[in-house]
Amino acid sequence: MRVVACPQCGTQLPWEGNRYRPFCSERCRLVDLGAWLDEKYTIPGPLDDESADTGDVAPVPGRDRRSGPEDG
Ligand SMILES: [Zn+2]
Repeated sequence: MRVVACPQCGTQLPWEGNRYRPFCSERCRLVDLGAWLDEKYTIPGPLDDESADTGDVAPVPGRDRRSGPEDG
């Protein structure tokens, strides 16, 4: 049996006999549909100028993890 993962929630479900495919349920289908509709019909308006965080990019600390020996 062919099994696919719901692109919305990742639930594994059989492909055959699924009326909501590629989603697992109507809910996930609507969520995804609403997502791209919302993106498509986004009204270009004035953005909130509260967050003015441009520039100042702090270096990411703590990237000295070494790959230790793997004992199997
Ligand atoms: Zn789902």
